[in-house]
Amino acid sequence: MPVAVYPGTFDPVHLGHVDIATRAAALFDRLIIAVYDRPMKSLLFPPEKRVEMMVQAMAHLPNVTVESYGGLTVDYVRAVGARVIVRGLRMIKDFELEYQMALSNRQLAPDIDTICLMTSLEYAFLSSTIVHEIAVAGGSVEQLVPPHVCEALRLALAQGTEHLTTGTAGLTVPE
Ligand code: ADP
Repeated sequence: MPVAVYPGTFDPVHLGHVDIATRAAALFDRLIIAVYDRPMKSLLFPPEKRVEMMVQAMAHLPNVTVESYGGLTVDYVRAVGARVIVRGLRMIKDFELEYQMALSNRQLAPDIDTICLMTSLEYAFLSSTIVHEIAVAGGSVEQLVPPHVCEALRLALAQGTEHLTTGTAGLTVPE
């Protein structure tokens, strides 16, 4: 299959995302990781930083490119000439959300299909929100994110957790 798009917020990218992307990259000729620029949830990192961190995390995969996008995912998928959306599934909770999203996207674009890859067991608990929470509380996220993301989190949090509650400097309360 030629091209697939793996869209998400990736705030920040963690090893569960890297695992899904690595496995999807083995199934498709080309994988585009599409970083959603302004989701309806509060963010820790601005779009450019989320893209930059994802580019570094994907350096080992020559057939993966990373871009940011806005608007409808299906419009973006069509614009890049793909017909497949890749998503990851962890728990039942994810299934309900992904199912609803896949059906909504099919309603909007019947020519585009969603393929969900099951998480690897070791990442079943992992989410960007969990990474935020551990980092904010001073715990180690070394086993959860690539090293450069660890450093970016450290720098972001060193600016003071008051930023996390005031939403200034691009830092807002984690979801
Ligand atoms: P979104 O806001 O679009 O859900 P995320 O960055 O949270 O963006 O997640 C992007 C995709 O990666 C989603 O399909 C999500 O279910 C999947 N995902 C997130 N964490 C994991 C994980 N630990 N294992 C497998 N898939 C995951």
